[in-house]
Amino acid sequence: MVFAHDTNASLAAAVALVNSAVAPDTLTTLAELDAFFTEHKYSGPRPGTEADLAALRALRAPLRMLLTSDRDTAAALVNAMLAEYRAVPRLVRHDGWDYHIHASDDGAPFAERVAVESAMAMVDVVRADEMGRLAICADETCDGVVLDLSRNRSRRFCSVTCGNRVAVAAYRARRG
Ligand SMILES: [Zn+2]
Ligand SMILES: [Zn+2]
Repeated sequence: MVFAHDTNASLAAAVALVNSAVAPDTLTTLAELDAFFTEHKYSGPRPGTEADLAALRALRAPLRMLLTSDRDTAAALVNAMLAEYRAVPRLVRHDGWDYHIHASDDGAPFAERVAVESAMAMVDVVRADEMGRLAICADETCDGVVLDLSRNRSRRFCSVTCGNRVAVAAYRARRG
């Protein structure tokens, strides 16, 4: 395991959120907002309003910048985000999860909780000098972000779909 389990989970959620903005946009409805909350096993109040959706959608661009920037820029962005949301890290245990970090109020707006959690995860990434775990999809036609937590750093595509598309294209090119 590259990072602590909560860091891995937060990074996966942040990448999924950023990639939801890659066309076709897959975060446009309250149902999709609800599915995101459920899939990534968030705790705290469940978001369910158009304002929650709009705030989460608005977080995608700054989050993309954070995940894909160089290490020094990422450090500056993390510091700015943690200061903006007045993050106060604390260890918590709940719902069967062993100790992990929460750094925003449990009742804070969902997008704010996601922002702080993402920033806290990036604290680990920057500190471990593992920015290389984040990259842009190797499919030239795709802007998706790839999170590679594999031991041999073998992950190149943001999704199975992208990997298959490139494999099929390569096969066709070989066949002439
Ligand atoms: Zn938690
Ligand atoms: Zn892709």
